[in-house]
Amino acid sequence: MNDTIRIVVVGSGYVGLVAAVCFAEMGHSVVCVDNDQQKVDALRGGNCLIHENYLPELLERYRNSRVRFTSDLAEATREAEAIFIAVGTPQSGSGIADLSYVEAVASEIARSLTTYTVIVEKSTVPVYTNEWIRKVMERNGVSQNLFDIVSNPEFLREGTAVRDFLHPDRIVVGTDSERAAMVLSKIYEPLTDGSYYKQPDAIDGFCTSHKPPPLLLTSTKSAEIIKHASNAFLALKISFINAVSNLCEAANADVEQVAQGMGMDSRIGPRFLRPGIGYGGSCFPKDVAAFRCVAEQLGVDFALLSEVETINASQKTRFLDKVRSALWTLRGKKLGVLGLAFKGGTDDIRESPAIELIQMLITEGCSIQAFDPAAMARAEQVLLSGPNLQYMQDAYEAAKDVDALLILTDWAEFSHLDLQRINRLMRYPIVVDGRNLYDPNLMLENGISYFSVGRPTKH
Ligand code: NAD
Repeated sequence: MNDTIRIVVVGSGYVGLVAAVCFAEMGHSVVCVDNDQQKVDALRGGNCLIHENYLPELLERYRNSRVRFTSDLAEATREAEAIFIAVGTPQSGSGIADLSYVEAVASEIARSLTTYTVIVEKSTVPVYTNEWIRKVMERNGVSQNLFDIVSNPEFLREGTAVRDFLHPDRIVVGTDSERAAMVLSKIYEPLTDGSYYKQPDAIDGFCTSHKPPPLLLTSTKSAEIIKHASNAFLALKISFINAVSNLCEAANADVEQVAQGMGMDSRIGPRFLRPGIGYGGSCFPKDVAAFRCVAEQLGVDFALLSEVETINASQKTRFLDKVRSALWTLRGKKLGVLGLAFKGGTDDIRESPAIELIQMLITEGCSIQAFDPAAMARAEQVLLSGPNLQYMQDAYEAAKDVDALLILTDWAEFSHLDLQRINRLMRYPIVVDGRNLYDPNLMLENGISYFSVGRPTKH
Protein backbone atom coordinates (compact mmCIF):
# COMPACT_ATOMS: atom_id res chain seq x y z
CA MET A 1 0.00 0.00 0.00
CA ASN A 2 1.30 3.46 -0.90
CA ASP A 3 1.65 6.22 1.66
CA THR A 4 -1.44 8.23 2.43
CA ILE A 5 -0.89 11.98 2.10
CA ARG A 6 -3.18 14.56 3.69
CA ILE A 7 -4.28 16.70 0.76
CA VAL A 8 -6.38 19.85 0.59
CA VAL A 9 -7.93 20.83 -2.74
CA VAL A 10 -9.20 24.41 -2.91
CA GLY A 11 -12.04 24.83 -5.39
CA SER A 12 -14.61 22.15 -6.14
CA GLY A 13 -15.29 22.88 -9.80
CA TYR A 14 -14.47 20.73 -12.82
CA VAL A 15 -10.82 20.40 -11.82
CA GLY A 16 -10.96 20.61 -8.02
CA LEU A 17 -13.76 18.13 -7.48
CA VAL A 18 -12.34 15.64 -9.95
CA ALA A 19 -8.88 15.98 -8.38
CA ALA A 20 -10.34 15.54 -4.88
CA VAL A 21 -12.20 12.30 -5.58
CA CYS A 22 -9.37 10.94 -7.72
CA PHE A 23 -6.78 11.60 -5.00
CA ALA A 24 -9.12 9.70 -2.65
CA GLU A 25 -9.35 6.92 -5.22
CA MET A 26 -5.55 6.83 -5.16
CA GLY A 27 -5.67 6.25 -1.40
CA HIS A 28 -5.13 9.74 -0.02
CA SER A 29 -7.08 11.61 2.61
CA VAL A 30 -8.64 14.72 1.09
CA VAL A 31 -10.35 17.88 2.28
CA CYS A 32 -12.06 19.77 -0.54
CA VAL A 33 -12.63 23.45 0.18
CA ASP A 34 -14.98 25.83 -1.60
CA ASN A 35 -16.10 29.29 -0.53
CA ASP A 36 -19.51 28.66 -2.06
CA GLN A 37 -21.42 27.18 0.88
CA GLN A 38 -24.26 25.96 -1.34
CA LYS A 39 -21.78 23.88 -3.31
CA VAL A 40 -20.27 22.50 -0.14
CA ASP A 41 -23.71 21.50 1.17
CA ALA A 42 -24.67 19.91 -2.15
CA LEU A 43 -21.43 17.93 -2.31
CA ARG A 44 -21.80 16.77 1.29
CA GLY A 45 -25.26 15.54 0.30
CA GLY A 46 -23.82 13.57 -2.63
CA ASN A 47 -24.96 15.93 -5.41
CA CYS A 48 -21.92 16.50 -7.61
CA LEU A 49 -23.42 19.44 -9.56
CA ILE A 50 -21.45 18.80 -12.75
CA HIS A 51 -21.92 16.23 -15.47
CA GLU A 52 -18.87 13.93 -15.63
CA ASN A 53 -18.59 10.19 -16.11
CA TYR A 54 -17.64 8.25 -12.95
CA LEU A 55 -17.90 11.38 -10.77
CA PRO A 56 -21.18 10.47 -9.01
CA GLU A 57 -19.86 6.97 -8.22
CA LEU A 58 -16.56 8.24 -6.82
CA LEU A 59 -18.29 10.98 -4.84
CA GLU A 60 -20.64 8.41 -3.35
CA ARG A 61 -17.77 6.07 -2.57
CA TYR A 62 -15.69 8.63 -0.67
CA ARG A 63 -17.85 11.51 0.57
CA ASN A 64 -18.30 9.96 4.00
CA SER A 65 -14.79 8.61 4.28
CA ARG A 66 -11.69 9.85 2.46
CA VAL A 67 -13.11 13.14 1.11
CA ARG A 68 -14.52 15.82 3.36
CA PHE A 69 -16.11 19.06 2.09
CA THR A 70 -15.81 22.36 3.91
CA SER A 71 -15.70 26.10 3.41
CA ASP A 72 -13.12 26.54 6.17
CA LEU A 73 -9.79 26.87 4.37
CA ALA A 74 -7.95 28.03 7.49
CA GLU A 75 -8.79 24.87 9.41
CA ALA A 76 -8.10 22.65 6.41
CA THR A 77 -4.70 24.33 5.88
CA ARG A 78 -3.51 23.47 9.37
CA GLU A 79 -3.99 19.75 8.69
CA ALA A 80 -2.52 19.65 5.18
CA GLU A 81 0.70 18.23 3.80
CA ALA A 82 -0.11 19.54 0.30
CA ILE A 83 -2.64 22.16 -0.79
CA PHE A 84 -3.75 22.13 -4.43
CA ILE A 85 -5.15 25.47 -5.58
CA ALA A 86 -7.81 24.71 -8.20
CA VAL A 87 -9.85 27.89 -8.29
CA GLY A 88 -10.84 29.71 -11.48
CA THR A 89 -8.40 31.92 -13.37
CA PRO A 90 -10.82 33.65 -15.75
CA GLN A 91 -9.94 36.06 -18.51
CA SER A 92 -10.05 39.73 -17.60
CA GLY A 93 -11.04 42.42 -20.09
CA SER A 94 -7.62 42.77 -21.69
CA GLY A 95 -7.11 39.03 -22.03
CA ILE A 96 -4.76 38.80 -19.07
CA ALA A 97 -5.52 36.05 -16.53
CA ASP A 98 -7.45 37.29 -13.49
CA LEU A 99 -5.50 35.82 -10.59
CA SER A 100 -7.52 37.42 -7.80
CA TYR A 101 -9.02 34.08 -6.71
CA VAL A 102 -5.56 32.52 -6.53
CA GLU A 103 -4.30 35.50 -4.56
CA ALA A 104 -7.23 35.30 -2.11
CA VAL A 105 -6.52 31.61 -1.49
CA ALA A 106 -2.77 32.19 -1.12
CA SER A 107 -3.41 34.96 1.45
CA GLU A 108 -5.74 32.75 3.47
CA ILE A 109 -3.20 29.91 3.41
CA ALA A 110 -0.47 32.32 4.48
CA ARG A 111 -2.50 33.37 7.52
CA SER A 112 -3.10 29.78 8.60
CA LEU A 113 0.10 27.87 7.86
CA THR A 114 1.71 26.27 10.92
CA THR A 115 3.79 23.34 9.60
CA TYR A 116 5.69 22.61 6.38
CA THR A 117 3.20 22.43 3.50
CA VAL A 118 3.57 22.14 -0.25
CA ILE A 119 1.46 24.70 -2.10
CA VAL A 120 0.51 23.43 -5.53
CA GLU A 121 -0.70 25.49 -8.48
CA LYS A 122 -3.30 23.22 -10.09
CA SER A 123 -5.15 26.12 -11.71
CA THR A 124 -3.80 27.24 -15.07
CA VAL A 125 -1.66 30.28 -14.30
CA PRO A 126 0.85 32.44 -16.18
CA VAL A 127 4.57 32.04 -15.72
CA TYR A 128 5.85 33.86 -12.62
CA THR A 129 2.67 33.14 -10.63
CA ASN A 130 4.75 30.98 -8.28
CA GLU A 131 6.86 34.04 -7.45
CA TRP A 132 3.75 36.08 -6.66
CA ILE A 133 2.48 33.35 -4.34
CA ARG A 134 5.88 33.34 -2.66
CA LYS A 135 5.63 37.14 -2.17
CA VAL A 136 2.18 36.75 -0.60
CA MET A 137 3.65 34.25 1.86
CA GLU A 138 6.58 36.52 2.68
CA ARG A 139 4.39 39.60 3.10
CA ASN A 140 2.31 37.65 5.60
CA GLY A 141 5.43 36.77 7.54
CA VAL A 142 5.51 33.07 6.65
CA SER A 143 9.00 31.68 7.09
CA GLN A 144 10.60 30.32 3.90
CA ASN A 145 11.13 26.88 5.39
CA LEU A 146 7.41 26.43 6.10
CA PHE A 147 6.41 26.03 2.45
CA ASP A 148 7.44 25.21 -1.08
CA ILE A 149 5.60 25.96 -4.30
CA VAL A 150 4.94 23.49 -7.09
CA SER A 151 3.33 23.94 -10.47
CA ASN A 152 1.37 20.78 -11.30
CA PRO A 153 -0.79 21.76 -14.27
CA GLU A 154 -3.90 19.78 -15.05
CA PHE A 155 -4.56 18.41 -18.54
CA LEU A 156 -7.93 16.72 -18.02
CA ARG A 157 -10.67 17.26 -20.57
CA GLU A 158 -14.25 17.89 -19.54
CA GLY A 159 -16.42 14.93 -20.47
CA THR A 160 -13.64 12.44 -19.70
CA ALA A 161 -12.20 14.25 -16.70
CA VAL A 162 -12.02 11.38 -14.19
CA ARG A 163 -10.51 8.99 -16.70
CA ASP A 164 -8.03 11.64 -17.86
CA PHE A 165 -6.98 12.40 -14.29
CA LEU A 166 -6.33 8.75 -13.50
CA HIS A 167 -4.81 7.89 -16.89
CA PRO A 168 -2.80 10.99 -17.81
CA ASP A 169 -0.34 11.04 -20.70
CA ARG A 170 2.13 12.64 -18.31
CA ILE A 171 2.26 14.25 -14.89
CA VAL A 172 4.18 17.52 -14.86
CA VAL A 173 5.71 18.57 -11.57
CA GLY A 174 7.50 21.90 -11.69
CA THR A 175 9.40 22.90 -8.61
CA ASP A 176 12.75 24.16 -7.49
CA SER A 177 12.57 22.19 -4.22
CA GLU A 178 13.61 18.55 -3.88
CA ARG A 179 11.53 18.16 -0.76
CA ALA A 180 8.36 19.30 -2.55
CA ALA A 181 9.16 17.09 -5.54
CA MET A 182 9.29 14.11 -3.16
CA VAL A 183 5.84 14.92 -1.76
CA LEU A 184 4.32 15.22 -5.25
CA SER A 185 6.04 12.00 -6.35
CA LYS A 186 4.50 10.20 -3.35
CA ILE A 187 1.07 11.60 -4.14
CA TYR A 188 1.17 10.34 -7.74
CA GLU A 189 3.02 7.10 -6.96
CA PRO A 190 -0.08 4.85 -7.28
CA LEU A 191 -0.27 6.00 -10.92
CA THR A 192 3.43 6.20 -11.77
CA ASP A 193 4.26 2.77 -10.27
CA GLY A 194 1.17 1.27 -11.93
CA SER A 195 -0.23 -0.17 -8.68
CA TYR A 196 -3.53 1.71 -9.04
CA TYR A 197 -4.29 0.11 -12.39
CA LYS A 198 -3.92 -3.38 -10.91
CA GLN A 199 -6.69 -2.85 -8.36
CA PRO A 200 -9.78 -4.83 -9.34
CA ASP A 201 -12.13 -1.83 -9.14
CA ALA A 202 -9.76 0.75 -10.68
CA ILE A 203 -11.49 3.11 -13.12
CA ASP A 204 -10.72 1.67 -16.56
CA GLY A 205 -7.89 -0.24 -14.86
CA PHE A 206 -8.03 -3.39 -16.91
CA CYS A 207 -8.77 -1.57 -20.14
CA THR A 208 -5.62 0.45 -19.99
CA SER A 209 -3.14 -0.65 -22.56
CA HIS A 210 -0.64 2.14 -22.06
CA LYS A 211 2.25 2.12 -19.61
CA PRO A 212 2.00 3.98 -16.29
CA PRO A 213 2.32 7.72 -16.87
CA PRO A 214 5.76 9.31 -16.64
CA LEU A 215 6.29 12.06 -14.10
CA LEU A 216 8.20 14.91 -15.70
CA LEU A 217 10.15 17.03 -13.24
CA THR A 218 10.80 20.59 -14.40
CA SER A 219 11.48 24.00 -12.97
CA THR A 220 8.40 25.80 -11.66
CA LYS A 221 8.41 28.34 -14.48
CA SER A 222 8.79 25.66 -17.17
CA ALA A 223 5.76 23.81 -15.80
CA GLU A 224 3.70 27.01 -15.81
CA ILE A 225 4.66 27.55 -19.45
CA ILE A 226 4.03 23.88 -20.39
CA LYS A 227 0.33 24.27 -19.59
CA HIS A 228 -0.18 27.49 -21.54
CA ALA A 229 1.95 26.28 -24.44
CA SER A 230 0.06 22.96 -24.61
CA ASN A 231 -3.38 24.59 -24.72
CA ALA A 232 -2.21 27.23 -27.18
CA PHE A 233 -0.79 24.51 -29.42
CA LEU A 234 -4.03 22.51 -29.38
CA ALA A 235 -5.99 25.68 -30.19
CA LEU A 236 -3.53 26.36 -33.00
CA LYS A 237 -4.16 22.90 -34.44
CA ILE A 238 -7.91 23.56 -34.42
CA SER A 239 -7.54 26.97 -36.04
CA PHE A 240 -5.15 25.51 -38.60
CA ILE A 241 -7.58 22.83 -39.73
CA ASN A 242 -10.40 25.41 -39.74
CA ALA A 243 -8.35 27.61 -42.06
CA VAL A 244 -7.67 24.56 -44.24
CA SER A 245 -11.41 23.78 -44.23
CA ASN A 246 -12.10 27.28 -45.59
CA LEU A 247 -9.57 26.65 -48.32
CA CYS A 248 -11.22 23.29 -49.07
CA GLU A 249 -14.58 25.01 -49.42
CA ALA A 250 -13.09 27.48 -51.89
CA ALA A 251 -11.42 24.66 -53.86
CA ASN A 252 -14.40 22.28 -53.63
CA ALA A 253 -12.24 19.71 -51.83
CA ASP A 254 -13.08 17.64 -48.74
CA VAL A 255 -11.38 18.70 -45.49
CA GLU A 256 -12.16 15.36 -43.84
CA GLN A 257 -10.05 13.62 -46.47
CA VAL A 258 -7.35 16.24 -46.11
CA ALA A 259 -7.32 15.88 -42.30
CA GLN A 260 -7.18 12.10 -42.62
CA GLY A 261 -4.23 12.30 -44.96
CA MET A 262 -2.44 14.76 -42.70
CA GLY A 263 -3.22 12.84 -39.53
CA MET A 264 -1.70 9.62 -40.85
CA ASP A 265 1.67 11.32 -40.61
CA SER A 266 2.87 10.31 -37.16
CA ARG A 267 4.59 13.68 -36.79
CA ILE A 268 1.19 15.37 -37.07
CA GLY A 269 -1.31 12.85 -35.65
CA PRO A 270 -5.06 12.78 -36.27
CA ARG A 271 -6.27 14.44 -33.06
CA PHE A 272 -7.44 18.05 -32.93
CA LEU A 273 -7.75 18.10 -36.71
CA ARG A 274 -11.55 18.29 -36.58
CA PRO A 275 -12.90 21.30 -38.43
CA GLY A 276 -15.97 22.99 -37.02
CA ILE A 277 -17.37 26.20 -35.60
CA GLY A 278 -14.27 27.03 -33.57
CA TYR A 279 -12.99 26.06 -30.17
CA GLY A 280 -14.70 27.23 -26.99
CA GLY A 281 -14.94 26.22 -23.37
CA SER A 282 -13.49 27.63 -20.22
CA CYS A 283 -9.86 26.92 -21.17
CA PHE A 284 -8.71 27.41 -24.76
CA PRO A 285 -10.04 30.94 -25.36
CA LYS A 286 -8.80 32.31 -22.05
CA ASP A 287 -5.52 30.40 -22.10
CA VAL A 288 -4.59 31.52 -25.62
CA ALA A 289 -5.40 35.11 -24.62
CA ALA A 290 -3.44 34.82 -21.38
CA PHE A 291 -0.44 33.29 -23.16
CA ARG A 292 -0.54 36.10 -25.73
CA CYS A 293 -0.55 38.64 -22.87
CA VAL A 294 2.34 36.87 -21.13
CA ALA A 295 4.35 37.07 -24.36
CA GLU A 296 3.52 40.78 -24.69
CA GLN A 297 4.53 41.48 -21.09
CA LEU A 298 7.83 39.68 -21.64
CA GLY A 299 8.46 41.61 -24.85
CA VAL A 300 8.16 38.55 -27.10
CA ASP A 301 6.46 38.78 -30.49
CA PHE A 302 3.98 35.88 -30.62
CA ALA A 303 1.62 37.24 -33.30
CA LEU A 304 0.78 33.66 -34.27
CA LEU A 305 -1.49 33.49 -31.21
CA SER A 306 -3.50 36.52 -32.35
CA GLU A 307 -4.01 34.80 -35.70
CA VAL A 308 -5.25 31.65 -33.92
CA GLU A 309 -7.83 33.83 -32.14
CA THR A 310 -8.84 35.67 -35.32
CA ILE A 311 -9.43 32.43 -37.24
CA ASN A 312 -11.43 31.05 -34.33
CA ALA A 313 -13.70 34.08 -34.13
CA SER A 314 -14.28 34.14 -37.90
CA GLN A 315 -15.25 30.47 -37.90
CA LYS A 316 -18.47 31.38 -36.10
CA THR A 317 -19.40 34.16 -38.50
CA ARG A 318 -18.60 31.88 -41.43
CA PHE A 319 -21.04 29.35 -40.00
CA LEU A 320 -23.69 32.03 -39.63
CA ASP A 321 -23.14 32.90 -43.29
CA LYS A 322 -23.48 29.23 -44.17
CA VAL A 323 -26.87 29.08 -42.44
CA ARG A 324 -27.88 32.25 -44.26
CA SER A 325 -26.83 30.90 -47.64
CA ALA A 326 -28.72 27.65 -46.98
CA LEU A 327 -31.90 29.59 -46.19
CA TRP A 328 -31.42 32.76 -48.30
CA THR A 329 -32.62 35.06 -45.47
CA LEU A 330 -32.73 34.59 -41.72
CA ARG A 331 -35.41 36.95 -40.39
CA GLY A 332 -38.50 35.02 -39.28
CA LYS A 333 -36.92 31.58 -39.77
CA LYS A 334 -37.52 28.84 -37.23
CA LEU A 335 -34.38 26.79 -36.54
CA GLY A 336 -33.76 23.62 -34.59
CA VAL A 337 -30.47 23.62 -32.71
CA LEU A 338 -28.78 20.46 -31.49
CA GLY A 339 -26.18 21.22 -28.85
CA LEU A 340 -25.52 24.00 -26.35
CA ALA A 341 -22.42 22.73 -24.53
CA PHE A 342 -19.04 23.77 -25.88
CA LYS A 343 -18.41 20.14 -26.77
CA GLY A 344 -20.08 16.76 -26.37
CA GLY A 345 -19.98 14.91 -23.06
CA THR A 346 -20.20 17.95 -20.80
CA ASP A 347 -22.80 20.34 -19.41
CA ASP A 348 -20.31 23.22 -19.56
CA ILE A 349 -21.47 26.14 -21.68
CA ARG A 350 -18.69 28.58 -20.83
CA GLU A 351 -17.49 30.27 -24.06
CA SER A 352 -19.59 27.79 -26.01
CA PRO A 353 -19.69 28.66 -29.71
CA ALA A 354 -23.22 27.20 -29.75
CA ILE A 355 -24.45 29.80 -27.26
CA GLU A 356 -22.79 32.60 -29.19
CA LEU A 357 -24.30 31.41 -32.46
CA ILE A 358 -27.78 31.18 -30.95
CA GLN A 359 -27.41 34.77 -29.73
CA MET A 360 -26.34 35.85 -33.24
CA LEU A 361 -29.25 33.99 -34.86
CA ILE A 362 -31.79 35.52 -32.49
CA THR A 363 -30.35 38.96 -33.22
CA GLU A 364 -30.83 38.17 -36.93
CA GLY A 365 -34.53 37.54 -36.23
CA CYS A 366 -34.61 33.72 -36.04
CA SER A 367 -36.54 31.72 -33.48
CA ILE A 368 -34.80 28.70 -31.98
CA GLN A 369 -35.87 25.29 -30.69
CA ALA A 370 -32.83 23.98 -28.82
CA PHE A 371 -31.91 20.67 -27.30
CA ASP A 372 -28.82 19.45 -25.44
CA PRO A 373 -28.57 16.18 -23.48
CA ALA A 374 -26.85 17.77 -20.46
CA ALA A 375 -26.40 21.53 -20.79
CA MET A 376 -29.97 22.89 -20.93
CA ALA A 377 -30.21 23.81 -17.24
CA ARG A 378 -27.00 25.83 -17.46
CA ALA A 379 -27.97 27.36 -20.81
CA GLU A 380 -31.31 28.54 -19.39
CA GLN A 381 -29.39 30.69 -16.91
CA VAL A 382 -27.78 32.73 -19.69
CA LEU A 383 -30.29 32.37 -22.54
CA LEU A 384 -33.74 32.87 -21.10
CA SER A 385 -36.50 30.97 -22.86
CA GLY A 386 -39.10 33.18 -24.52
CA PRO A 387 -40.84 33.65 -27.85
CA ASN A 388 -37.50 33.39 -29.70
CA LEU A 389 -36.03 30.48 -27.78
CA GLN A 390 -37.56 27.28 -26.54
CA TYR A 391 -35.86 24.32 -24.90
CA MET A 392 -37.06 20.96 -26.20
CA GLN A 393 -37.15 17.43 -24.78
CA ASP A 394 -35.08 15.71 -27.46
CA ALA A 395 -33.50 16.09 -30.89
CA TYR A 396 -36.71 15.14 -32.70
CA GLU A 397 -38.81 17.70 -30.89
CA ALA A 398 -36.14 20.30 -31.78
CA ALA A 399 -36.48 19.35 -35.45
CA LYS A 400 -40.27 19.67 -35.54
CA ASP A 401 -41.57 22.17 -38.12
CA VAL A 402 -38.26 23.99 -38.51
CA ASP A 403 -36.82 25.61 -41.62
CA ALA A 404 -33.43 24.03 -40.89
CA LEU A 405 -31.73 21.95 -38.24
CA LEU A 406 -28.30 23.06 -36.99
CA ILE A 407 -25.81 20.73 -35.29
CA LEU A 408 -23.59 22.79 -32.99
CA THR A 409 -22.17 20.30 -30.46
CA ASP A 410 -20.50 16.97 -31.18
CA TRP A 411 -22.57 14.83 -28.82
CA ALA A 412 -22.26 11.16 -29.87
CA GLU A 413 -26.05 10.78 -29.82
CA PHE A 414 -26.42 13.45 -32.52
CA SER A 415 -24.35 11.36 -34.92
CA HIS A 416 -26.89 8.55 -35.27
CA LEU A 417 -30.28 10.21 -35.54
CA ASP A 418 -33.15 8.55 -37.41
CA LEU A 419 -32.75 10.69 -40.53
CA GLN A 420 -36.02 9.58 -42.13
CA ARG A 421 -37.85 10.70 -39.02
CA ILE A 422 -35.91 13.98 -38.97
CA ASN A 423 -36.80 14.55 -42.61
CA ARG A 424 -40.51 13.97 -41.95
CA LEU A 425 -40.54 16.29 -38.93
CA MET A 426 -38.89 19.31 -40.53
CA ARG A 427 -40.72 21.89 -42.58
CA TYR A 428 -37.79 21.86 -45.01
CA PRO A 429 -35.24 19.04 -44.89
CA ILE A 430 -32.12 21.17 -44.46
CA VAL A 431 -29.34 20.30 -42.02
CA VAL A 432 -26.41 22.65 -41.39
CA ASP A 433 -23.81 20.70 -39.48
CA GLY A 434 -21.08 22.63 -37.70
CA ARG A 435 -19.41 19.44 -36.49
CA ASN A 436 -19.31 17.24 -39.62
CA LEU A 437 -21.08 14.39 -37.83
CA TYR A 438 -22.55 12.86 -40.99
CA ASP A 439 -21.48 11.37 -44.27
CA PRO A 440 -22.92 13.80 -46.84
CA ASN A 441 -24.04 10.86 -49.04
CA LEU A 442 -26.09 9.42 -46.18
CA MET A 443 -27.90 12.73 -45.79
CA LEU A 444 -28.56 12.84 -49.52
CA GLU A 445 -29.93 9.28 -49.48
CA ASN A 446 -32.35 10.40 -46.78
CA GLY A 447 -33.51 13.34 -48.86
CA ILE A 448 -31.84 15.99 -46.72
CA SER A 449 -29.93 19.00 -48.06
CA TYR A 450 -26.74 18.92 -46.09
CA PHE A 451 -24.31 21.76 -45.46
CA SER A 452 -21.20 20.97 -43.43
CA VAL A 453 -17.75 22.46 -42.84
CA GLY A 454 -15.05 22.24 -45.49
CA ARG A 455 -16.84 19.68 -47.63
CA PRO A 456 -18.74 19.95 -50.89
CA THR A 457 -22.43 20.60 -50.20
CA LYS A 458 -24.86 17.81 -51.12
CA HIS A 459 -28.40 18.82 -52.05
P1 NAD B 1 -14.64 26.18 -11.84
O1 NAD B 1 -15.13 27.56 -12.03
O2 NAD B 1 -15.47 25.03 -12.30
O3 NAD B 1 -14.32 25.94 -10.30
C1 NAD B 1 -13.65 26.84 -9.48
C2 NAD B 1 -14.15 26.68 -8.05
O4 NAD B 1 -13.36 27.46 -7.19
C3 NAD B 1 -15.59 27.12 -7.86
O5 NAD B 1 -16.34 26.07 -7.25
C4 NAD B 1 -15.48 28.33 -6.92
O6 NAD B 1 -16.58 28.45 -6.04
C5 NAD B 1 -14.20 28.00 -6.17
N1 NAD B 1 -13.53 29.15 -5.56
C6 NAD B 1 -13.30 30.38 -6.08
N2 NAD B 1 -12.65 31.14 -5.18
C7 NAD B 1 -12.45 30.38 -4.08
C8 NAD B 1 -11.86 30.61 -2.82
N3 NAD B 1 -11.31 31.80 -2.52
N4 NAD B 1 -11.85 29.62 -1.92
C9 NAD B 1 -12.40 28.42 -2.21
N5 NAD B 1 -12.99 28.14 -3.40
C10 NAD B 1 -13.02 29.11 -4.31
O7 NAD B 1 -13.21 26.13 -12.54
P2 NAD B 1 -12.50 24.87 -13.23
O8 NAD B 1 -13.05 24.65 -14.57
O9 NAD B 1 -12.45 23.76 -12.24
O10 NAD B 1 -11.03 25.47 -13.45
C11 NAD B 1 -10.15 25.70 -12.36
C12 NAD B 1 -8.77 25.96 -12.90
O11 NAD B 1 -8.28 24.79 -13.59
C13 NAD B 1 -8.68 27.09 -13.93
O12 NAD B 1 -7.46 27.74 -13.79
C14 NAD B 1 -8.72 26.37 -15.26
O13 NAD B 1 -8.10 27.09 -16.28
C15 NAD B 1 -7.94 25.12 -14.94
N6 NAD B 1 -8.25 23.97 -15.79
C16 NAD B 1 -9.54 23.71 -16.14
C17 NAD B 1 -9.82 22.60 -16.92
C18 NAD B 1 -11.23 22.31 -17.35
O14 NAD B 1 -11.41 21.52 -18.27
N7 NAD B 1 -12.23 22.91 -16.73
C19 NAD B 1 -8.79 21.75 -17.33
C20 NAD B 1 -7.49 22.02 -16.92
C21 NAD B 1 -7.23 23.14 -16.15
